[in-house]
Amino acid sequence: MLETLRSFTLAESPSTEKAAADHCAEIIAAEWRKREVNVALVPQKSRGNHIRIEWKPAGISSKGQLLVLGHYDTVYSTGTLQKMPFRISEDKAYGPGVFDMKAGIVQALYALDVLQQMNVRLHKKIVFLWSSDEEIGSQSSSKLLEAEAHCSDAVFVLEPSLGPKGLLKTARKGVGEAELIIHGKASHAGLAPEDGVNAVHELALQITRMRTWNDPRRGVTVNTDVIEGGTRVNVVAERARALIDLRALRIADMRAIEKKLRALRPILPGAKLELKGGFNRAPMERKVSATLFVRAKKLAAEMGIQLGECTAGGGSDGNLTAALGIPTLDGLGAVGDGAHSPHEHIFINRMLERAAVLAALLANS
Ligand SMILES: [Zn+2]
Repeated sequence: MLETLRSFTLAESPSTEKAAADHCAEIIAAEWRKREVNVALVPQKSRGNHIRIEWKPAGISSKGQLLVLGHYDTVYSTGTLQKMPFRISEDKAYGPGVFDMKAGIVQALYALDVLQQMNVRLHKKIVFLWSSDEEIGSQSSSKLLEAEAHCSDAVFVLEPSLGPKGLLKTARKGVGEAELIIHGKASHAGLAPEDGVNAVHELALQITRMRTWNDPRRGVTVNTDVIEGGTRVNVVAERARALIDLRALRIADMRAIEKKLRALRPILPGAKLELKGGFNRAPMERKVSATLFVRAKKLAAEMGIQLGECTAGGGSDGNLTAALGIPTLDGLGAVGDGAHSPHEHIFINRMLERAAVLAALLANS
């Protein structure tokens, strides 16, 4: 498993560099082609090609399908390996993208091996989908993965787990980004302040208003994280803008925030508002994961493995499949820490049990 992880990691695969990503896709696809499965690269114009693997063993009666989902792109540009090489130190393996989420792909590969070598009778065919642009919002892959999810009875997402206990992610916040632009009117701040409409003042009032929408107990956060406006101190600011991070745990709360955003009206006479963006991933509500989590927990316990769960503040492709109402279980991937950081690593000795849990889920779903 480590050798496979090494070869996947040495093929750097930033979401935004197609040639590098395509090369990585080839390396991953080649490894899957060694097994008795159908491997297809789904060509993309500007992003890396997606990888679709289908395993339909003879004798399957049901028309059902199970989807194993993940991404092979990383947030690291090519060349990162020079300062952040793949290395093993004690019980950990370090390298760009090992935790998020190349080890997850390796674990899925070995789950397949277990099922094939033990001749486990499956109830449903399995589709593995490894996409190339999850880290930048899944624009080129969302249609494909939503179409596969529609034909599936369950979706297992190999995103990293949380913490040393390897908690699964049974709920994820919906995530969005809005931009609020204020159009005011410039004027001399000394000679004719009454002729101006101060866009910075208007923005400050709007930010104060949006701040009251925060509801930490319900998992609703509205954070204005970037502001800019005005030109110089003796000119009443004509324009100002803010970028706002939006998160919600429940679909109803997401809708409510979107409604409030659209209902924003100017506070200062003469000011105009322009709003762009909104939520781009709906919340993954716990009820979509509940049944699968109970199953995973029980199967793991039979192997002496304890599984826990958590809520994640960030989104993944699991949000997209959950939004379709398809049972989705996320965070089944590696156990480790430091995603998107120089100390990204996985715990080597946990790869085996995670592969076993996935194999058990595939055999019993
Ligand atoms: Zn990821």
